[in-house]
Amino acid sequence: MSDIIANLNAVRQGILEAARAGGRDAGEIQLIAVTKNVSVNRIHEALAGGVKMIGENRVQEMLDKYPILQGQVQWHLIGHLQTNKVKYILEQVSLIHSLDSISLAEEIQKRAGGGRMVDVLVQVNVAAEATKYGLPVEKTIPFLQEFARWPSIRVKGLMTIAPQVDNPELVRPIFRQLRMLAEQIRTMNLTGVEMNVLSMGMTNDYRVAIEEGSNMVRIGSAIFGR
Ligand SMILES: *Cc1c(COP(=O)(O)O)cnc(C)c1O
Repeated sequence: MSDIIANLNAVRQGILEAARAGGRDAGEIQLIAVTKNVSVNRIHEALAGGVKMIGENRVQEMLDKYPILQGQVQWHLIGHLQTNKVKYILEQVSLIHSLDSISLAEEIQKRAGGGRMVDVLVQVNVAAEATKYGLPVEKTIPFLQEFARWPSIRVKGLMTIAPQVDNPELVRPIFRQLRMLAEQIRTMNLTGVEMNVLSMGMTNDYRVAIEEGSNMVRIGSAIFGR
């Protein structure tokens, strides 16, 4: 068995165990294999192992790989998106995880056109880390209240990146806070906002994220190595 297939099996087992621990249905948890800095050959191995969705951090890297893997996988943009790059990715991308500004929403709306709906997650900087993108928690609801202005954008949920820590228990409150924020937003029935996806959890913290309600984990190094 290749290392990638073995790693995928271990991650799937980890997802199952975390779902069980959290009293959740593992079938509702989607795995995004994060393929930044991973060659197309190794991505092919992951696809052979049943991966259906890949996450890329940078627009240029996604565009370089897209023609080779087109039609074989769903593309998720998980990294920061600059306004001037929106026009290059709307055709290819299934879900943008990193919407965090009015100017970006306006650009997506402007470039979508043709009745196309663009699915996004709003990135929240729950831990208020100065080095991270994403909206502060307190600006998230006011931002989501604006989406009636952008009829081509459908907000599927929220995304966060927890701080890097050795013990993932330390970031459990971050995940819990994002889930509670999503629940609060769901009761508001905002135009353009569905709020069924919680993209949280990476290699070091995905088990805790799942226990706290994540239904989309973004995992790179546990699958492809460091
Ligand atoms: C790199 C990256 C991941 C995956 O990180 P690992 O720790 O390798 O699993 C997830 N989300 C984002 C936004 C990333 O940039």
